[in-house]
Amino acid sequence: MIQIAQFQFESQAKALVDELAKQAVSATCAMTRSVTKPARVAGVVRVAPEDFETAMQVVIDADLLPYSSWTGVACPQCHSLKTERVKTYFKHVPLPLFLLSLFALGLPLFFLRQPNHCLDCGHLW
Ligand SMILES: [Zn+2]
Repeated sequence: MIQIAQFQFESQAKALVDELAKQAVSATCAMTRSVTKPARVAGVVRVAPEDFETAMQVVIDADLLPYSSWTGVACPQCHSLKTERVKTYFKHVPLPLFLLSLFALGLPLFFLRQPNHCLDCGHLW
């Protein structure tokens, strides 16, 4: 099973599961507890790998992309929707540039566009 979205409330997660059921996608909804903050729970929605593309389309149509760890942007090379933003991008930036932006702007490189990464073919863009 692949996680497609994570919500703060179980009702939100259940609503997405209902929406997926309309597209004949069977999804599971599980409440998980944060390891670091046990008081915080999250409704995690997962689908079978073969339903991933259909499920992502539902997430995109329902404007739920902010709740997904996936970008919802199709890979330009293999057209897969299994794409994510590269999270650790600081190490790709030379240290002097990082420090310069930190002191000049007071912000650590928020203007840098994070590249997307395709999990199916490994393409970066
Ligand atoms: Zn790809």
